[in-house]
Order: sequence, then C-alpha cells, then structure tokens
Amino acid sequence: MRIARYVADGGDPGFGIVELAADAGDHPDTIAAINGDPLAGPVKYTGERHSLDDVRLVSPVIPRSKVVAIGKNYAAHAAEFHSTVPSEPLVFLKPNTSVIGPGEPIVYPPETADLHFEGELAIVIGRICRRVPADRAAEVIFGYTIANDVTCRDLQAKDRQWSRAKGYDSFCPLGPWISTHLSVAEAGNLRLTTTLNGEPRQESDTSLMVYPIPRLIEFITSFTTLLPGDVILTGTPHGVGPMLPGDSVTVSIDGLGSLTNPVVAED
Ligand code: MG
Repeated sequence: MRIARYVADGGDPGFGIVELAADAGDHPDTIAAINGDPLAGPVKYTGERHSLDDVRLVSPVIPRSKVVAIGKNYAAHAAEFHSTVPSEPLVFLKPNTSVIGPGEPIVYPPETADLHFEGELAIVIGRICRRVPADRAAEVIFGYTIANDVTCRDLQAKDRQWSRAKGYDSFCPLGPWISTHLSVAEAGNLRLTTTLNGEPRQESDTSLMVYPIPRLIEFITSFTTLLPGDVILTGTPHGVGPMLPGDSVTVSIDGLGSLTNPVVAED
C-alpha cells in the first residue's frame, strides 16, 4: 500500500491510498481518500477519488515528534570526506520543523555558501517502542519513504556539530508517499539515485549501508522512545554535492518513487 497526504481543490490535507497505473494498467494514477490518520487505526475509504495529477502531495508524515538521522552509514560516503565509518551508528536529530513535502522549495539560507543534497531511504515508525531487538525491528516499522537530508556543508564544519547545518526549515524533504508493503530485507536492497537538474549525482544501493535497518532501530531505541510518525533517515551514499537557487533535485528509490524539490533563495 502507498499512503500519501494530499490537498485537493485547495482544501485541508488528507490521507489517501495511491494506486499506480503501473500496478494494474487499467486506470490512470489515482488517489483514493481515506478517513483519519492511517498511523492511528485501520484504513477506511471515503469513496472520494482523484487523479494523482489533480492533487498536490504534501509530506506523507505529519511531523509531530522527531526525525532521527544517521551519519556516515555508507563507507564510500565517509571516504569522500576522508573519514571512516563509525564503530557504532552515528545519530543526530533534525527538527520536525525541517520537514517539507514533494515539490515544496528547499530554501537556500544566506548563512551558507555550500548547500548539499543527500538522498536517503527513510523509515516511518508505526508504534511506540523502546529497546527493540534487531530481530523484532519489522514490528515497529510502518513503512518507507524517500528523504533528502539537506546540509550546509560549510556550517557543518564550522559548528563542529550538525544542528544548524542540517536543521534549517525545509531541510528535510520527505515523500512522495509511504510504502507499507516492503519487508525489511526488501527495503535493505533498493537502488537509490539522486539527480540534480536531471544529471546523475548519486547512484548506490541500500544494501551498502554499514548498519542495516534492524541495527539502526535497535541502536536508536536503546536510548530514546520512538513514536508513531517518527522518521529515521538511514544515511546517504557517496556522490553528495552542492545545489544552488534555481536547481531542481530528485531522489529516487526503486519501488518507492521519486522525490523532487526546487531550490530557492530565501526572501
Ligand atoms: Mg545524511
């Protein structure tokens, strides 16, 4: 199942189930409205239906609590910064106010001169959980989506910690929807690509994570409680690079879709 949040006809955002023509072939890409929050209970269709082209998707996650992110989780990415992989997962937090949806602008702040994209697989948590053993991680995962861990590379070096460099408003694009049908093993074996203005920049595979999904959930929940709707960014592969106002960045993961955002200068 692919769960999106969307706005139709200028109304309030609601949740819907995305049905792609590629799946069945006898209909256009559509979105079927559902009642309430799918993280809070069973999905119930309202009967309302739209062409996917006629709605505006927003972040598939309502960012109520936190975004937990992982640094240096691909060896080739650590190497491009002349670094090595950490001896245990390297965790940081992005504020929930950094979350935006597909198509919404990444705002280039005046304080940076080196704004980077980082395409990443994102895990959406479905249950309140603490001290989850790796072999039970699947029980707390609601689904998967795509993230861009936008980073001011210069401020990251200057500040010596990452709260500002990765925490600006708009620095956590998520989407286009949450895919709930993948197993942990399937999510850990997906091709990931990032393009800038259509030019390939990152080409990798989630199978190359240093610490795989179950270990990340075990490690994160060893110190903090995860809540439904919390998001884990699993780290970026090699090939990160700068963006400028006027650019368009797209992160694609096989089976999960594509997440495109324009970059704009701050007013
Ligand atoms: Mg990252």
